[in-house]
Amino acid sequence: NQRYSLVERPAGMPDENHLKLEDAPMPTVGDGELLLRTIYLSLDPYMRGRMNAASSYAQYVELGDVMTGRTVSEVVASKSDDFKPGDIVLSENGWQRYAAVPVASVRKLDPEQAPVSTAVGILGMPGLTAYVGLLDLAQPKAGETVVVSAAAGAVGQVVGQLAKMKGCRVVGVAGAEDKCRHVVEAYGLDACINHRDSDFFDQLKAACPDGIDVYFENVGGHVFDSVMQLVNDFARIPVCGRIAHYNQTELPTGADRLIPFMGKVLIKRLMIRGFIQSDHWDRLPAFQADMSRWIREGKVKYQEDIVDGLENALSAFQGLLEGANRGKLLVQVSSD
Ligand code: NDP
Repeated sequence: NQRYSLVERPAGMPDENHLKLEDAPMPTVGDGELLLRTIYLSLDPYMRGRMNAASSYAQYVELGDVMTGRTVSEVVASKSDDFKPGDIVLSENGWQRYAAVPVASVRKLDPEQAPVSTAVGILGMPGLTAYVGLLDLAQPKAGETVVVSAAAGAVGQVVGQLAKMKGCRVVGVAGAEDKCRHVVEAYGLDACINHRDSDFFDQLKAACPDGIDVYFENVGGHVFDSVMQLVNDFARIPVCGRIAHYNQTELPTGADRLIPFMGKVLIKRLMIRGFIQSDHWDRLPAFQADMSRWIREGKVKYQEDIVDGLENALSAFQGLLEGANRGKLLVQVSSD
């Protein structure tokens, strides 16, 4: 077996001093367990938080343990009547080639229904996040202006298309020209602004002539600051992620901005709602039924960014935190 272990907690960007690729013994399979071969490892921003020994909504990874992560895997050996070798499952093998896991921790996938990689992407956690955050929490109405950051990414690409389906004016924010072009041309967004441009705020303002009614927050940082200057009365802001801050080691210096910020929340009657997708798994059946249909009907498109080889997982993850990925980031650990 081969795996990435967390050997030291990063301050800032994680590197090979923190995540070590090492050879490990093949896992043994107990009763009621499956031996799984990882096909796809999903790389997601939340993993950065799991490297910190901080209290959060989920348990962090202990030093010496394999780095956590959702996977699409093939059953190699089964000590359960419900699974046979060759079955494909959604699992949480982490960053490793093989894992022995309890049957209750996996869900069988049907390769006839959809490409199996989508179980960790558009038809899985990131898709559900977009669906719940936008449709259930922000509830956009036709004619409103919706802004979504990280608009070309796993969650953002879905948010933008769902907001278009609702009849909104939709403006994406992304960190590269080609991402912005893709978001407009492939997903049909009305505009997309590059947050690295020096006149980002002016461009965003021009793209939102009627102000902003919904902001799907994925990034924080100066994008959030700009949006806050353009929000309308009763704007809704689902707070999904703050990736610009995940590697931050210190708070910025300067004046404390909390008091004017809370003043704006009051005067504009804003709804700012943090959410974590795992609280909303009751929505999974409705989400999967809707999303599968929308994909079939061509109403929702998706882009995956598949990096070859487990040994490239760390550099791919570093790239994710800097915007190198184009769409949902996956590692192809072995062939499907
Ligand atoms: P993405 O596929 O969108 O990849 C991350 C993207 O974040 C990068 O490609 C980059 O895009 C952008 N980014 C990175 N650094 C910065 C920065 N400093 N400023 C602005 N943008 C930056 O990832 P996901 O779709 O998987 O995740 C998007 C967000 O949603 C993350 O914050 C994640 O933590 C959150 N999330 C939250 C969930 C929840 O339950 N609340 C569930 C799933 C995800 P660009 O080039 O456009 O800058």
